Amino acid sequence: MTFDGFETLAIHAGQEADTETGAVVVPIYQTSTYAQDGVGGLRGGYEYSRTANPTRKALEECLAALEAGARGLGFASGMAAEDTLLRTVAGPGDHVIIPGDAYGGTFRLFSKVLERWGVAWEAVPQTDPDAVRAAVRPETVAIWTETPTNPLLNITDIEALAGIAHDAGALLVVDNTFASPYLQRPLTLGADVVVHSTTKYLGGHSDVVGGALVVADPELGERLAFHQNTMGAVAGPFDAWLTLRGVKTLGVRMDRHCANAERIADALRHHPGVSEVVYPGLAEHPGHKLAARQMRGFGGMVSFRLRDGEKAALRMCERTQVFTLGESLGGVESLIEHPARMTHASTAGSPLEVPADLVRLSVGIESGDDLVADLLAALD
Ligand SMILES: *Cc1c(COP(=O)(O)O)cnc(C)c1O
Repeated sequence: MTFDGFETLAIHAGQEADTETGAVVVPIYQTSTYAQDGVGGLRGGYEYSRTANPTRKALEECLAALEAGARGLGFASGMAAEDTLLRTVAGPGDHVIIPGDAYGGTFRLFSKVLERWGVAWEAVPQTDPDAVRAAVRPETVAIWTETPTNPLLNITDIEALAGIAHDAGALLVVDNTFASPYLQRPLTLGADVVVHSTTKYLGGHSDVVGGALVVADPELGERLAFHQNTMGAVAGPFDAWLTLRGVKTLGVRMDRHCANAERIADALRHHPGVSEVVYPGLAEHPGHKLAARQMRGFGGMVSFRLRDGEKAALRMCERTQVFTLGESLGGVESLIEHPARMTHASTAGSPLEVPADLVRLSVGIESGDDLVADLLAALD
């Protein structure tokens, strides 16, 4: 018999009880080096913790299982994972297609760093697969996508983009941070690489920064592991342990994130002060049908626009009591923010600029009644 349900893997994959002590939880192997039994006589393959560490390895194996991949790799942050991936698969003269509304840090990595090293990039609205196909060049080595996107929650068709990438001999990379593997598994839809900021839903408690890559092809996994070790932006043992602890409850947390977000989207939709609610779970969302097909739930992020403009949006952000005003997302606690002035301030004046009347919620797992009441009180 195989026990491979998602929640079972989250708790057990890569996490067998310690062979020596029986410890049920993978220990924090807070060590940089390992004793050798004679020169080159490694116990269990460990020689130095940049190369491999048992706590990080447990996290890497668990994430690979959750994403249905061949290999997982743990990094110091989501951006470190992205940088390592891009310097592994792209070099001078290569071209990468990114989303028109890419995560700001991803956009900055391309525009301010990789461009200087000769990697060309182009931002394309990816809800239209034909626009992506039209942007492919002979030098295109990767199509980078995010779905849902931040903060407008656009949905892109992973299967369609995988087809376009593979026709061009390129990789499809999916930043799966917003959905988490519980709601969406891009590798099963044809993607080649999944990127995570584990800082968000995977860690889930706003207490650790981390990143991960999961790949379908073991050979690409080997190349990435070589670069991970060579460039060195690895997750430390304690960070890997915190993330692994968070992952154990991912399924139950995501169910509650989704349920609370659905209730909130519905409540905001009926409020006269709100002109538009952006949530893929709503039938009027342009990506609703696609999201219903490729995701198992619609996620915990909700954005909405205030009828009275930017001032009303700013006031709203400052008046909630349960929702904390702050950046980031994916933790158990609810957060509220004003993208135009906070997370997306750097997009002002660019094609990625977000509306000034927009408010973004990372809906937590507190009591749904309290969350709805808090938002309605702040709106009135
Ligand atoms: C936060 C985030 C990142 C970057 O991850 P860090 O852990 O902050 O480095 C990348 N992509 C998305 C979608 C994110 O939300």
